[in-house]
Amino acid sequence: METEKENEIRDEGGSLRERARESMTRRKKQVRTRIVLLNAAIAMLVIMCVFVVKLVSLNKPEQTKEKKTVEKTAEANSDQEAEKPTQEPSATPAADIRTGTDKWLRKDLDASKPMVALTFDDGPYTPVTKKILSTAKKYDARVTFFVVGNRISNYSDVLKKAYDQGCQIASHTHEHKILTKLTKKQIKAQINRANAAIKKVIGCKATALRPPGGGVNDTVRKYVGLPMICWDVDTEDWKSRNAGKVLKRCKNISDGDIVLMHDLYPSSAEAVKKLIPRLVKKGFQLVTVDELFYYKGIKLQKGKVYFSAK
Ligand SMILES: [Zn+2]
Repeated sequence: METEKENEIRDEGGSLRERARESMTRRKKQVRTRIVLLNAAIAMLVIMCVFVVKLVSLNKPEQTKEKKTVEKTAEANSDQEAEKPTQEPSATPAADIRTGTDKWLRKDLDASKPMVALTFDDGPYTPVTKKILSTAKKYDARVTFFVVGNRISNYSDVLKKAYDQGCQIASHTHEHKILTKLTKKQIKAQINRANAAIKKVIGCKATALRPPGGGVNDTVRKYVGLPMICWDVDTEDWKSRNAGKVLKRCKNISDGDIVLMHDLYPSSAEAVKKLIPRLVKKGFQLVTVDELFYYKGIKLQKGKVYFSAK
């Protein structure tokens, strides 16, 4: 009996040990499975992180690329601005007009008929400029205004009116400075500031310059960046302030002449009122400076001085 009992106990002990071993193996297996699952989860997480980072980094250069393209286009546009004239002027000039050339260059004039360019310096000055414009409009005459940049903000309306009427807006520097007395930097500033003031009102820059006092030297020629238009008929209107005397000095105007006046004196506007119909009657076409040189087949060059188109 005792031996049987002992045997039973031994057997029980054996099966207990076996069960314990089995449960141990099961637990080990479970732990291993958990480790594998955890590793898999970590791996998935890493892969997802890499994927997200890649997505972000892929997006970034595209944005920069886009930005660069926009910048490049803007640069290209500003280059075009300097070089390309536009086709048609619009009601809001600032948008697309690069230079006024097309605005103040009529292509339907008769090249065989005599032409003269009346030019007015030192303005704009509404009381006189508007009178000149009114006479010009009546006879479909186009004249050229060499304006002083720092006067523009005070008389911008009349400047815009002149432009809209097809008259040429040209530069007479920003502060009416004698350019021969200036440094390269100062010359450039006079040109650029006047151009900025002109562009603000009419949407395009001047294509010609009249150097104040006709003062030109090598430095001016080199840095002015515009053709310089002087004159061959001086009315001396500033001196006489007398319409009759101005008209007298215009007696011998001939084809290709450039006439100097100033839209500062009422006497000059008075003279113009008689001068334009007289010239029209004589068969002259009253043209802008750009038109005069265009029809005479002379290509204006930057830094060169012109006195007439003969
Ligand atoms: Zn002047």
